[in-house]
Amino acid sequence: MFSQNRERIALISVHGDPAIAIGQEEAGGQNVYVRRVGEALAEKGWHVDMFARRIDPDQEHIVQHNARCRTIRLDAGEPKFIERNELLQKLPEFIEAFLQFQEDHNITYPILHTNYWLSGYVGMELRQQQASKMIHTYHSLGAIKYRNTATIPPIAKTRLQIEQACLETADCVVSTSPQEEEHLRAHVSQKGNITIIPCGTEIERFGRVDRATARQKLGIPPQEKMVLYVGRFDPRKGIETLVKAAGRSEVREQPHLHLYIAGGSREGHKDSQECQRIKSIVEQQQLSDRTSFLGRLDRDVLALYFSAADVCVVPSHYEPFGLVAIEAMASRTPVIASAVGGLKFTVIPEETGLLAPAQDDEAFAEAIARLLSDPEWCEQLGEKGRDRVENLFSWRGVSNQLDSLYLKMLKSLKSESVREYQTIS
Ligand code: UDP
Repeated sequence: MFSQNRERIALISVHGDPAIAIGQEEAGGQNVYVRRVGEALAEKGWHVDMFARRIDPDQEHIVQHNARCRTIRLDAGEPKFIERNELLQKLPEFIEAFLQFQEDHNITYPILHTNYWLSGYVGMELRQQQASKMIHTYHSLGAIKYRNTATIPPIAKTRLQIEQACLETADCVVSTSPQEEEHLRAHVSQKGNITIIPCGTEIERFGRVDRATARQKLGIPPQEKMVLYVGRFDPRKGIETLVKAAGRSEVREQPHLHLYIAGGSREGHKDSQECQRIKSIVEQQQLSDRTSFLGRLDRDVLALYFSAADVCVVPSHYEPFGLVAIEAMASRTPVIASAVGGLKFTVIPEETGLLAPAQDDEAFAEAIARLLSDPEWCEQLGEKGRDRVENLFSWRGVSNQLDSLYLKMLKSLKSESVREYQTIS
């Protein structure tokens, strides 16, 4: 099954540790992506090392996930949490630690797959020092994000420059949706190679139980109209829009309405401020007795909530891909999402769910009410959603595409080094 051609890959994800609990501040889709890509590629025979920054002195340096896949935590600055906008100055130490790791273990990674602009910077610096191919995935684009945020951080200019340099100099950029590719070409650069490979999801985990069984396991009554949000507490996620939509009469008056908000927040961190802000909007809307804050959920419990829900709402202001949408679809639950970024690729309106303009609570309310009033239609949308995920977004399919890309990169790296050797001799 394994070809001898497959070698070592470094998946670099400085701030997105793939071995950490998902759903809290700074731990979301990127962490899930890196971990699943790593494990799926290891199954194909690659040796995958996933590099992140150590953020706690109690964290292990190496977490072995299976025989060919591990997370390696490097020390860059004190091992404590640092917000991603403050991380740039720690990157030289990260690069140093990476090079030291290679030297200590007698490894030179032929492929560096970097994730998010911070790791992109690391990849570009490393490539100046060694012959490796660099593949980059953005996960979020400053050029789009800053259009949708009120406060632009001081790091913005540097981030935009690094994102442009990544596109122009990486051997290949993996864009996770056609919308992201359009954004890259329109707002970042016309130069550079882009290939589209979407994110995937665990189709074996999500959608294993039917709605009635999931509700029974969770103790949720069959008649409840269950509206679900899953994700981090971050203003860009637009939870406020969902709560305001639920407060409008067409949704509020639905019998047995209940809103479930899943995702964790950490005391003293920025996400706990956002969580408090959302709780106060819930109170203002007089929805406290019809809203449950579930905290961070592990993937198996999460799978039950996805299956149990009547609708899953993804109200993001901006979403480069949005794993939650395909997880809900894999669970046969229709999705109501903002018509932005990757959500326009994953959710087919009137077929697997509905799209509404971002931040438009009136449009979200109308969409939620439409679906909650028609359970039969919801079932049809759910089935179509499942089909779409099975056809396009399984990790197996995604990892097959990444596998081909890596093999192609490796081949060109080898022919380049042969050419170089011939020129020298
Ligand atoms: N997630 C989780 N538990 C939670 C909340 C979220 O496992 O309590 C996961 C969610 O299922 C998804 C990821 O966190 O896989 C969020 O990814 P997404 O792309 O939707 O958003 P991001 O965090 O990247 O902005």
